[in-house]
Amino acid sequence: MTEARTPCINPRCRRTGPADEFPGEMICGRCFRTLPEATRKEHRRYWREIKKWDRRIGRTADVLKTSRMRAIRNRLSDQLNRHWDTYIKAPFLAPEKPEGLDAFLEEVGL
Ligand SMILES: [Zn+2]
Repeated sequence: MTEARTPCINPRCRRTGPADEFPGEMICGRCFRTLPEATRKEHRRYWREIKKWDRRIGRTADVLKTSRMRAIRNRLSDQLNRHWDTYIKAPFLAPEKPEGLDAFLEEVGL
């Protein structure tokens, strides 16, 4: 029986993670470290905030309060997803600039 694996989002990277731990998408530690410091910080900040709200929701018995907290938590989760797509995933999926393009543009006067 083969264990399900989730591939790293970097198409040029062959690493994978266990699918039960990383459902959907994942980035391996090595590729994550190639991202700018500000991007990594922001990513970790979203995760910290989300976990903080999860803990608060778990400790609260008041239904009205938990539904308000859940709304905040969901908004953070949306922000995390947008940040993931734009700043973490997109740079790896962007096609590399073709070589010699600058020289060509210079030649045609752009
Ligand atoms: Zn990777």
